[in-house]
Amino acid sequence: MSHELPPLPYPKEALEPHIDALTMEIHHDRHHKAYVDNLNKAIAGNAALEAKPLDALIKDLASVPENIRGPVRNNGGGHWNHSFFWKLMAPKAGGTPTGKLADAIKAAFGSFADFQAKFEAAGIARFGSGWAWLVSNGGKLEIVSTANQDNPLMGKAVAGCEGKPLLGVDVWEHAYYLKYQNKRADYLKAWWNVVNWAEAAKNF
Ligand code: MN
Repeated sequence: MSHELPPLPYPKEALEPHIDALTMEIHHDRHHKAYVDNLNKAIAGNAALEAKPLDALIKDLASVPENIRGPVRNNGGGHWNHSFFWKLMAPKAGGTPTGKLADAIKAAFGSFADFQAKFEAAGIARFGSGWAWLVSNGGKLEIVSTANQDNPLMGKAVAGCEGKPLLGVDVWEHAYYLKYQNKRADYLKAWWNVVNWAEAAKNF
């Protein structure tokens, strides 16, 4: 099985003015594509790994031979994270979550505003490149962050945290630099305008 770059679920300019079209084009067509290509390259010739779905692959990095574990971690994580991320954004989205997810966020963080502040802080505090996540860890909602292309599904020993991702935001500079330059906090604030809460609720 060869991994494939999923198409963006909306046109590249659909998230304007919050996320600009050129950023989306480079981010998806070049960065994400490179993760997919390099993942395929890393596992080429290993039939067992080639047969594994992406989820299973990144959840069990210990079973990946050591000589390709690094590339599979970085590029498998990159492929998973970006495939997840595109769906969590949408045009005419934003606002607040509803239903069970809204209740769970309130129960865990006090209020939606408190949740937003904590989530933004996790993104800002990530030194260098990585992600901030809202995860369900055994039914309990938590905010965590990972370095590089690590993912909570990789588990505590690898990623430093664990849980099922419900929401995730890319804080690599390539996600925001063209429009926001060094102002990651401004990007994170603007990002709320494009969050697809229906998709996050589905993940929950
Ligand atoms: Mn990215």
